[in-house]
Amino acid sequence: TNSCQQLQIFFLPYMARGHSIPLIDIAKLFSSRGARCTIVTTPLNAPLFSKAIQKGEIELVLIKFPSTEAGLPQDCESADLIRTQDTVEKFIKATFLLAPQLGKVLDEHRPHCLVADAFFTWATDVAAKFGIPRLCFHGIGFFPLCASLSVMMYQPHTKSSSDSESFVIPNLPDEIKMPRSQLPVFPNLDGESEFMKIVKVSIESEERSYGVIVNSFYELEPAYADHYRKVFGRKAWHIGPVSLCNEAAEDKAERGSIEISTAEKHECLKWLDTKKPHSVMYVSFGSLIQFADCQLLEIAMGLEASGQDFVWVVKKEEKDVENWLPEGFEKRMEGKGLIIRDWAPQVLILEHEAIGAFVTHCGWNSILEGVSAGVPMITWPVFGEQFYNEKLVTEIHRIGVPVGSEKWVLSFADVSAETEASVRREAIEEAVIRIMVGDEAVEIRSRVKELGEKARRAVEEGGSSFLDLSALVGELNHLLEA
Ligand code: UDP
Repeated sequence: TNSCQQLQIFFLPYMARGHSIPLIDIAKLFSSRGARCTIVTTPLNAPLFSKAIQKGEIELVLIKFPSTEAGLPQDCESADLIRTQDTVEKFIKATFLLAPQLGKVLDEHRPHCLVADAFFTWATDVAAKFGIPRLCFHGIGFFPLCASLSVMMYQPHTKSSSDSESFVIPNLPDEIKMPRSQLPVFPNLDGESEFMKIVKVSIESEERSYGVIVNSFYELEPAYADHYRKVFGRKAWHIGPVSLCNEAAEDKAERGSIEISTAEKHECLKWLDTKKPHSVMYVSFGSLIQFADCQLLEIAMGLEASGQDFVWVVKKEEKDVENWLPEGFEKRMEGKGLIIRDWAPQVLILEHEAIGAFVTHCGWNSILEGVSAGVPMITWPVFGEQFYNEKLVTEIHRIGVPVGSEKWVLSFADVSAETEASVRREAIEEAVIRIMVGDEAVEIRSRVKELGEKARRAVEEGGSSFLDLSALVGELNHLLEA
């Protein structure tokens, strides 16, 4: 009808920083292409979006988080605050209770499109009631998407006789082997558990959605981007690495942070300024994982033994250092190692030329950020799809080395409760030396640097991600005019 109408997109991010951070970037990207973008979230999650709101890049609509209805503490509005399995289930229940409120918001505002996190399996139907197309955002790349769909469809693990015996993930472009112990526990599509029901509903909801937005770039996983589209039949657009939409240092520093002062952030960057190029390890396990004291001790000892300088981000509820750090550690490490106990400006750290390698839990955002900055990785997957991501890094691209993490855990809550470290100090020391010193290290760095350049080119005008975003915006505009 009205051809000068402005495209209006609503975004419903999952309430966890690892999911919200890339979705903010995606909203900014759409906004840079002329769309009016609105985030729908709850009061306690709203501060994450406040910088982009202040700058006029996005708008905000608040809904209430049904914490008490789901049996959660009143202020528990984010998955980042969950520490037990029991709370995980209550949290999922609360997110299901959001459906009627989203319906009201969509009814009132009538946007042209809804981008909702894949965890909101009910969002496709709620949007359909108002004739609004729903786009799905998983937060992970084509490779882990394909690997997990393959495992669910073909059930290869049911044929291995033990948890440690490796099987090949069927029907993928590469031969990827992994043991059952590294596999998420769910994959039995015929199973009748509550969890399996949610998995089935989520696959159906994705199939019925308008399509999938993927934070990746074609050159990173071409065979899997094609496989996902052709073999799994998904309509998908790759528009990443979305973190690269933040050009100013300030925008990068603010990414994901709520209340940390910028001065503190810059302190670690200043410290890095005093270091030689490629001489410092960056060690961080994302926004959720809080290792048990026994594991933290192994990391400390492994880092010290490696003799390499490091910046180590430690997430810990109680900040009592003496409990887990070896005697005199921080004194001994003065000038060599820096521990950050709050939110770290990860993208700025990774892009600092002093950084030589990244010890990562293989969260998808971290991997893409590492690749974009051209930083070699030590992979230490823990849960979720992280073991698949490790394969992409260590086997397909050979831009990192595994530390030897062997066992998938059900949730990050279990990680903090471990009584025995699953990765020993010797393994950490060995991996650090392998990634920092010698010929293999040089080769790995050169491969990841090349991939990092491809990442940058992908988001520049005319690049693969730039063009896929143009195609998506074009298609949505077309819908609106129809
Ligand atoms: N992050 C950060 N500072 C921190 C911890 C995490 O900026 O101290 C960011 C990181 O850059 C990434 C996100 O938080 O964008 C974590 O997402 P990822 O997928 O790597 O892991 P998750 O936290 O979801 O397990």
